Amino acid sequence: MLGLPGAGKGTQARLISQKFKIPTVSSGDLFRDHDKNNTELGILARDYMLKGAYVPDDVTIRMITEWVSLQDKSKGFILDGFPRTINQARVLDDILTNYGGLDMAVYIDISVAEAINRISTRVLCSICQSPFSLLDGVKEGDVCRTGDGGVIYQRPDDKPSAVEERLKVYSRETQEVIQYYQTRDNLRTVSGAISINEVKSEIISTITSLENERYSTDRRSI
Ligand code: AMP
Repeated sequence: MLGLPGAGKGTQARLISQKFKIPTVSSGDLFRDHDKNNTELGILARDYMLKGAYVPDDVTIRMITEWVSLQDKSKGFILDGFPRTINQARVLDDILTNYGGLDMAVYIDISVAEAINRISTRVLCSICQSPFSLLDGVKEGDVCRTGDGGVIYQRPDDKPSAVEERLKVYSRETQEVIQYYQTRDNLRTVSGAISINEVKSEIISTITSLENERYSTDRRSI
C-alpha cells in the first residue's frame, strides 16, 4: 500500500486483510510498538519518527524481514507503508522471490492539500489504531468508540512541524518507488478522494481482476 500520509493505507489494508483473510502489517505501527516497548529497534527509530524523517533503510529492512519471516508462505500478506525508498523496494523484490513475487502495489492517490487536511484533524485509538477525525467530535483523551478500552491520542508526528518533513521526504523518496512499480506494470492507482467503502470496492475489484487474469492465463497454458 502506497500513498501520502493520511491517504487511508492503514484503513484499507485492514479492510482488505479481513476480506481476503491475509495478514497485514504497518511498518509505522511496528515502529510505534518497538518504541513503546523500548526495544533496540524502537530506540534506533525514535528520533527519526518524531522529526517525521524516514528511519534508515537497514533498520527498517531488518524489522520488516523479521516480520515477513514469521508469515505463512502460501498465504501472502499486505504491507502498509513499506517500501518507501527505492532501496527498500529492491530488497522487497529479493525477499519476494521466495513468495512468488509481488502481486501488486496499490497506490491510494490523494492531493497534498487533502493529506494535510486529514492529518491535522486525525486522532487514533491507542489500542486498535483506528483513525478518527476531530471534525466528528472525537477528542484526545476520549475512550475509543470500538469498545476496546483504548484512549484517543494524536500522533506526535501528526503535528505540523513533523508533517512538513514527512511530506518532503515522501516526495523525495517515495515518488520514485511509485514510478518504479509503474514502470514494471505492478502499480494499480485508486483515488483516495472517494469514501472508504468506495476505495475498498475499487481495490477488491482490482485484486479480483488480477486473480481472474491469472486464472485464465493458467487455463490457456494447460
Ligand atoms: P506511518 O505510520 O506509516 O506514517 O509511519 C510513521 C513513521 O515511521 C514514519 O514517519 C517513519 O519515521 C517511520 N517509517 C514507517 N515506515 C517506514 C519505512 N518504510 N521507511 C522508513 N521509515 C518508516
